[in-house]
Amino acid sequence: MPTGSGKSLCYQLPALMFDGATVVVSPLIALMKDQVDALRARDLPATFINSSVDEKEQWSRIDALRRGEFKLVYVAPERFRSSRFLEALKSISVSLFAVDEAHCISTWGHDFRPDYLRLKHVVQALNDDGSGTQTIALTATATPYVRSDIIQQLGLNKPETFVSGFDRPNLTIDVVHTEKEREKIARIKRLAKTNDGSGIVYAATRKAVEQVALQLQGQGLSVTAYHAGMGDAARVKAQEDFMTGRTQMIVATNAFGMGIDKPDIRFVAHYQMPGSIESYYQEIGRAGRDGLPSSCVLLFNYADKNTHDFFIEGSYPNADQVRDVYRVLLSTGLKQIELSAGEIAKRAGIRNEMAVQSTLYLLERAGHIHRLANAKNFEETVAKPPWATHTGTAFTGTAGVSPAAATRDSARQKPGRAPRAILMLDNVRPDKLRVTPGDVERRAALERRKLREMIEFCYTEHCYRAAILDYFGDRHHARNCGSCGNCSTHSVARTALADGEMLDEPQASGRSRKGSAILSSLPRALDDNENLRVRKILACASRMKGRFGKNVLAATLRGSAAKHVMQAHLNALSTYGLLKDMRQDEIVVFIDALCAAGCLSISSGDYPTVSITELGERVMGEQERVPLLLTQDGLAKDREEPLLPATALQTYTLFRNGHSVADIARQRELVTNTIEGHLVECIASGLPVDLTKLVSDSNRTQIENAIAKHGTEKLKPIREALPESITYNMIRFVVERQRLLKTAK
Ligand SMILES: [Zn+2]
Repeated sequence: MPTGSGKSLCYQLPALMFDGATVVVSPLIALMKDQVDALRARDLPATFINSSVDEKEQWSRIDALRRGEFKLVYVAPERFRSSRFLEALKSISVSLFAVDEAHCISTWGHDFRPDYLRLKHVVQALNDDGSGTQTIALTATATPYVRSDIIQQLGLNKPETFVSGFDRPNLTIDVVHTEKEREKIARIKRLAKTNDGSGIVYAATRKAVEQVALQLQGQGLSVTAYHAGMGDAARVKAQEDFMTGRTQMIVATNAFGMGIDKPDIRFVAHYQMPGSIESYYQEIGRAGRDGLPSSCVLLFNYADKNTHDFFIEGSYPNADQVRDVYRVLLSTGLKQIELSAGEIAKRAGIRNEMAVQSTLYLLERAGHIHRLANAKNFEETVAKPPWATHTGTAFTGTAGVSPAAATRDSARQKPGRAPRAILMLDNVRPDKLRVTPGDVERRAALERRKLREMIEFCYTEHCYRAAILDYFGDRHHARNCGSCGNCSTHSVARTALADGEMLDEPQASGRSRKGSAILSSLPRALDDNENLRVRKILACASRMKGRFGKNVLAATLRGSAAKHVMQAHLNALSTYGLLKDMRQDEIVVFIDALCAAGCLSISSGDYPTVSITELGERVMGEQERVPLLLTQDGLAKDREEPLLPATALQTYTLFRNGHSVADIARQRELVTNTIEGHLVECIASGLPVDLTKLVSDSNRTQIENAIAKHGTEKLKPIREALPESITYNMIRFVVERQRLLKTAK
């Protein structure tokens, strides 16, 4: 039964009617207190037992249960690790044992929690005395396969199964295939304009959340951002602003939404697809809780699959990676090793640093190593792979998201952590490790299958609603819903964007102007000198084994003595300094063009790295030549050029919130000239900027007079015609505004 359709009522009502107590097992520790408070407000005597309650209080609550003072008790699953706790529970008269979020018991589910596996014994123990305790298992997301697994894992005997309420007829579901970021932004803008109410925009990573929020703010929309990497205060504020309607939209990772009960959310947009249909349906399920029509639009771009691949790869290391990491640890010859995951990744030749983190966890679990707690980062006790046991209050509620997605926004991403020292517990041959990667591989395969199903859903030409209901095994539905994007002939979400809606190519900065001019140019054949450069770049990329980003590749090629180049010993490569005669930006142009031509590939994620492709190797070996899109002035088109640089948008947001230029400069630790430069870009791109806050009326009149005389072609004559007190930037503000008005006419 989906969230919001009355699942808790299924055990709360019986709890009132039964003689004994009702025990509810729930992993949502963060929500327990609120749930209990809500029940008490309705005169239902309830309590909870989890790690946030000290031991003395736990026992006093159990005593109160024994005396029949509570009808209902919420319990965290890890409490059952203690046999004393189970014994105590047996001394209580339990009428109903309710397992909430029951899909957590299935290793095939998307949110497996090993503590749930103990529940079978609890069910048995409670029935040992023939007291006939009833068991009910509830879940919002289980597929038919997971459902049968729940029955088996809990040892239920011929239970009744109810599947209902999966359909949410007031939600219109649509998938729009998009190629460009600016189209996605424009479509969200349309959603916000056509839906008069709140909306959630889900993005796949923290970085994406921040970028998308800024771009939408830059479009004059009322937006706040939310992800697990923000400080507590900022997160609470973002949530409150959204809940109270102070901001229309919240751009968030999947960390946002658990326990959010805002009935009037009118739209949910997915800036990137989620990792599974379960996650997708849970996330769009937050729209329209009040039963009124609401829109759900998934902005699909096949390339977004890379983000998921990256996280799956990082969460589930393969046997080779496990051995390689262990070999690196052995090779130090030390008992106690102080290496960061990044350093281990480099030495092991593993591109995905996350895979190293996951491997260290596996090695620790198998007893080969022990990681010392570091006073600086206690938080790291939760820095485990997603399939690891969640303990105590560390769990903040990610039920319903895929493990890979959960990792994407968990505490392990905390920046600036000191590495934890690694203690070697033994010294075995790497091929004799006690790590059995079978389970990990099985989980990875499952994640990949779920992702494939998600992608297939995006490509289906049949009813989206029917596809989802089939997926969940809810058979009571029509073949065509008549309202989703595939059933309805006039989907608002996917009709072409009108001229006025499609966001323009950025015109503001010199960089962008050149960028758009290049749109029309084509790849061309290279001369011998250029081909030689290409081969040098590819050779260097090949030697760097896909472990570094494009800027480090360029820096190595031009022989940079920068610290990060030297520390990684890149100066020892035979290709170091091969392109001494070129500038960094010139080399990057070639690298970008080689990526566009498919000779190099860039990994996704926060630290994209460059590696050579098979085509690249053929070009390197002179077996093939490729035409490249290089620009005469040395600037290549950035394929995903943001509408405006994020830094300019940050300035813009502060400016619109009433901060002065000096203020913003101080806050952002930048010089005022930079801040003013950002505002010039914003004006040029058509963002509403209040000029009166930047140039006084009398100065503006003088500048406009000078422009009338000298035109806007060159700034110098204007500057010279004006008094000293008028700065270049003041002139730029007025000039850009005038240019804009002119083009608007
Ligand atoms: Zn339909």
